[in-house]
Amino acid sequence: MSDDPIEQGGCLCGAVRFELPRSGVVTANNCHCRDCQRSTGSGFATICMVPDAAFTLLSGEPRSYEVTGEGGGKVDRSFCGDCGSPLFSRVTAAPGLTFVKAAVFDDPSWIEVAGSWWSRSAQPWAPVDDSKPVTEGNPG
Ligand SMILES: [Zn+2]
Ligand SMILES: [Zn+2]
Repeated sequence: MSDDPIEQGGCLCGAVRFELPRSGVVTANNCHCRDCQRSTGSGFATICMVPDAAFTLLSGEPRSYEVTGEGGGKVDRSFCGDCGSPLFSRVTAAPGLTFVKAAVFDDPSWIEVAGSWWSRSAQPWAPVDDSKPVTEGNPG
């Protein structure tokens, strides 16, 4: 029995699949920035910060779209080209890290949210969880 299970995930249609050890999730946060809202169609995205070395793409070739994030850095947002599910992002300001959408794991129930980012653009219908640390914009 391992206490660091391998967690798999993927897009809605199953074309893109990935895996990482549970310990690969350094932290998870709710991001209320407008780009996350627009790309997910919801009030915020729950994002897992994962070192690139822990992240393994198993199948599929995600498409990506590069956008200048609200913090000014470039964000490369990867998604499934077939079903459109947002999957993960890489950020020029945070090299070596992959930001994986929490809900695309096959079982996302073990993820613990540490706090919230971009409270400044939170929508009234999806308020920030202020029982945890909140930053107005990008962390750090
Ligand atoms: Zn897909
Ligand atoms: Zn965001």
